[in-house]
Amino acid sequence: MRGDQYLLLPGPTPIPERIMRAMNKSMVNHRGPELKEIIKDVTVGVKKTFKTENNVLIYPASGSGALEAAVVNFISPGDKVLSISIGVFGDRFAKIATQFGANVEKLDFKWGEVADPKVVKERIDQDVRKEIKVVLVTHNETSTGACNDIKAIKEAMGDHPAIIMVDAVSSLGATDLRMDEWNLDVVVSGSQKAYMIPPGLSFLACNSKALEVHKKNNNPKYYWDVTAGLKYLEKGQTPYTPAISLLYGLQEALKMIQEEGLENIFNRHRNYRDMVRAAVKEIGLQLLTDDKYASNALTSVVVPEEIGANKVRKFLLEEFNIALAGGQQTLDDKIFRIGHLGYVRQLDLLATLGAIEIALVKFGYDLQLGKGLNKAQQFILNNR
Ligand SMILES: *Cc1c(COP(=O)(O)O)cnc(C)c1O
Repeated sequence: MRGDQYLLLPGPTPIPERIMRAMNKSMVNHRGPELKEIIKDVTVGVKKTFKTENNVLIYPASGSGALEAAVVNFISPGDKVLSISIGVFGDRFAKIATQFGANVEKLDFKWGEVADPKVVKERIDQDVRKEIKVVLVTHNETSTGACNDIKAIKEAMGDHPAIIMVDAVSSLGATDLRMDEWNLDVVVSGSQKAYMIPPGLSFLACNSKALEVHKKNNNPKYYWDVTAGLKYLEKGQTPYTPAISLLYGLQEALKMIQEEGLENIFNRHRNYRDMVRAAVKEIGLQLLTDDKYASNALTSVVVPEEIGANKVRKFLLEEFNIALAGGQQTLDDKIFRIGHLGYVRQLDLLATLGAIEIALVKFGYDLQLGKGLNKAQQFILNNR
């Protein structure tokens, strides 16, 4: 018996029954009164998760769609862009900007580590002629499980006039981000991570400073045009047909988020993180990231070379129907990633940690079964 899959990826994440039922409804006119109410309601709800009073546009696209929207609306060809990268998703933001004609300078940090705000400050301070127009940065780097200190990075920019655009696809709803308080200009997120709904929606918020930049922007765009999005949002519509079923799901998800409370949700994710990390340490495996900047959303576990991370993942999938994410690019076969965001429960993680121990012992790793599991159980007991 295979049973339901333990889906422990850093997206897509498991969908609560309540949300599945909410999505299973008839279509309505996307320019009619029913959807207008829903669009208004979910826009208010998403704004709360961004901690912003700025407008949020909802695109029928995966997270990368909103990254492209950020690029084409706020970066003009030839603009100097400083792109801070700590992994695959930081690289992706830089690549999209490059594709659309930006003059991109990368500021790379070692994978598994975070961006050092002091280094950012040095580079910004060097720019005395204020040539840098835009700074790109990832909040939670999903390829490694390291979480940048966005507040400190923004502060490192001082009074430099460049706008900052933040990829918060895997952080929002799992990690605190305060768009208005931290004075962030553009923030982007997506549906299939901590929002507990399927892939296919992404969100883009921008402040008035970014809108001024947008007005002068001359990158070609049509589908992603923020001006069109804002104009239609006033009427409770979107310029093109929205993903209606996903909006039903989003409305239910935002209700669940409201019921639990954002701060409680952040705490819950922090607890998952601490429990998983404590167990992995007890098992004796290395963690890719330091405790200081470990992600609330996922944990990257380094697997000894003689075993290989992909063999462990394959075993877990075949034996137990547990889906873990692999390492990307240079981290392939070196790490597996345990997603613990969205609708994951502690018991799912206990089951997974138990299964990981079985896999390790099966492949010859020296471990007394139950060691990590016991640590995780103690963690739960002591954090009740
Ligand atoms: C998931 C993710 C994205 C978007 O990826 P899609 O596959 O397009 O949804 C972007 N940035 C980060 C940090 C992510 O985790």
